Amino acid sequence: MSFLYETHPREQVVLLRFRTGHNRLNHHMATKLKLVPSPLYPCGKNQTAEHILQACPYHSALRDTIWPEETALQNKLYGPREDLERTARFAPQSGLTI
Ligand SMILES: [Zn+2]
Repeated sequence: MSFLYETHPREQVVLLRFRTGHNRLNHHMATKLKLVPSPLYPCGKNQTAEHILQACPYHSALRDTIWPEETALQNKLYGPREDLERTARFAPQSGLTI
């Protein structure tokens, strides 16, 4: 469990939500919780953690700022620490509720 030890508790929540898929993104809210009518984001794709962190065109500018080099989803979710901190920074800046 050492991958969380140096991050702030609020950042740990974001990371856990991204990792588990138990989050407030549309895919989970629609398919599991039935709280929103559609799993899709306005871009037309399933709004999952992977989509937001890796592919969504709505967030590409922010991703390019935070990760100037292409970074694997595995690194964004599980480290190294620098990438975990970037992921924790990305979440609030994206304007999404994770
Ligand atoms: Zn999208």
